[in-house]
Amino acid sequence: MAEQMTGGCACDRIRYAAAINDNDAYLCHCRMCQRATGSVSIAFKNVKQVDVEWSHEPDWYDSSAIAERPYCRECGTSLGFRFKEGSDNMDLTVASFDDPSRFTPKHHFGAESMHRAWLNTEGLPEKRTEDYQALVDKWVDATGKFPG
Ligand SMILES: [Zn+2]
Repeated sequence: MAEQMTGGCACDRIRYAAAINDNDAYLCHCRMCQRATGSVSIAFKNVKQVDVEWSHEPDWYDSSAIAERPYCRECGTSLGFRFKEGSDNMDLTVASFDDPSRFTPKHHFGAESMHRAWLNTEGLPEKRTEDYQALVDKWVDATGKFPG
């Protein structure tokens, strides 16, 4: 039974609702995705295009001869990926969902470009944002409160 899940860009100009059938997601490590997102890999949830309803249409750009990517031209958020033709599916970026916590990675794609040093970071020192006082002070000075 599908659940409607919502998401959008960082400035909230672009919003979507998507019918989600399971928790399965994946990491793409291909160089195209690395360069498009500026990240070592990108977490995607594959969905049917007809299951995605945009309450405000995203901007799209041609990321290659065969694919295009939705994004927000105001804040720059990467929202997904789709082939220009030949597929009823598309990807939504996991972190653009309002609650990405239910998704779990089930496979890697673009493994030829995988940066293995970033795969298992368990055990590295961890620091919470609210424990970085200089950053909290910046937020309080600028807005009166810390958004965390
Ligand atoms: Zn935006």
